[in-house]
Amino acid sequence: MSQGPVIIVGAGLAGLRCANVLSDAGVDIVVLERGQHVGGRVITDDVDGFKIDRGFQLLNPSYPQVERGLDLKDLDLQLFDPGMVLSDGVTHSQVADPLRSPGKILATLRAPLGPLTSRLHLARLLLALKGKQRKPVTINPDQPSAAWMLEKGIDRTTIDALLRPFLAGVLLEDELETSARITSLLLRSFTRGVPGVPAGGMGAIPHQMAARLGEDVLHLETPVTAVTANSVVLEDGSRLEGSAVVLATAGQAASLLLQTLRAPSSNSVTTWWYSTNEPLRTKATLVVDQSMKTLINSVEMTAAAPQYAPPGKYLVAASAIGLHPEVERERSVRERLSQLHRRSTKEWELVSMSLVADALPRYSSPFLLRPEVVVNGVFVAGDHRATPSIQGAMVSGERAARAILAQR
Ligand SMILES: Cc1cc2nc3c(=O)[nH]c(=O)nc-3n(C[C@H](O)[C@H](O)[C@H](O)COP(=O)(O)OP(=O)(O)OC[C@H]3O[C@@H](n4cnc5c(N)ncnc54)[C@H](O)[C@@H]3O)c2cc1C
Repeated sequence: MSQGPVIIVGAGLAGLRCANVLSDAGVDIVVLERGQHVGGRVITDDVDGFKIDRGFQLLNPSYPQVERGLDLKDLDLQLFDPGMVLSDGVTHSQVADPLRSPGKILATLRAPLGPLTSRLHLARLLLALKGKQRKPVTINPDQPSAAWMLEKGIDRTTIDALLRPFLAGVLLEDELETSARITSLLLRSFTRGVPGVPAGGMGAIPHQMAARLGEDVLHLETPVTAVTANSVVLEDGSRLEGSAVVLATAGQAASLLLQTLRAPSSNSVTTWWYSTNEPLRTKATLVVDQSMKTLINSVEMTAAAPQYAPPGKYLVAASAIGLHPEVERERSVRERLSQLHRRSTKEWELVSMSLVADALPRYSSPFLLRPEVVVNGVFVAGDHRATPSIQGAMVSGERAARAILAQR
């Protein structure tokens, strides 16, 4: 291996995880980030005292990378309700994991989720996923998630009433076309952990990781315009030599810098953030919109994390697939929210709107769970190399770091 630091391009969770693993191993590193902040897609803005994540997202503490790479205690994770409310705007059904919330068994059984046999097949599938410790979930051949669920004996009614609308909020697509391998891994994480947000906002995650880097390691506002196996070119045309290069950008940016890399296309999302003067619920229960037309889901953030709003105020998130900057759309969102939360939303104030293009890589089947780490001599990390999640981004960063360490 040639001399010089390992150059990491991108300070999202993948790049930061790679940087943490390498610096823990005593490797000299430099991290070059195009933007003004660390965290890439995970960032929290302060808007008039509200913590506004750029798009509604949660951290699942059961992700193996949380234990390996984060200090969960320091993040002070504020947990959401493990159950959810399914609503078509008129009816509202409580659904809960009977093992976690035995008190809600009856309500869950009453929910219109299709035939009992179908629910039993779903329960069996979830139990099987939960039990598969760290072993990879084997789905051979890979197929679209909807086809996989039907094959597992889950009825179309159960899929349409529960799985499709719930997973629309996770995958940011509403046809269940995503690879069953990806969906099974994400479902597995839900069977194992109750997600939440750090008290300081999701942006606290990358800040914690960046705080572990030594001085002069991180360079913000430093876009890289070209990469080779041992060097990068900066915007001013200067070339920086290193012992290895890790490309830890999102998929589209990576395929521009490394033309032989095929990155998946991506899904977008819009989240509207409202301030209210009254709390909606005692628990942060996700309300899933079964119609998925105006919205996919909504939740009162402050029911889990009161730190997300100034005293006396409450913060509600509402998300829809795609980018919807139009004013008229916001009016329909407000109307839909009054049906989903069963109260007037006229007085609610729109605090912010997050339009997140390229929020998640879109993985159709067949998906290779472990694509090669080295492409044309460049180490590649990012959620487009694993699952579209915090876990995926971090594990891809660790894999790139381990591959570099293995060559030393
Ligand atoms: C709205 C939304 C909701 C989500 N919900 C969840 C959730 O609930 N749970 C979950 O686990 N995951 C969720 N995710 C996914 C998760 O946030 C991402 O998978 C993860 O953050 C991706 O990290 P990354 O490091 O791979 O990429 P990024 O975060 O995209 O980081 C790449 C970095 O590279 C930088 N970069 C790009 N080009 C260059 C260049 N030329 N030179 C230098 N730097 C460059 C970028 O500025 C960026 O900082 C969500 C994502 C979004 C957007």
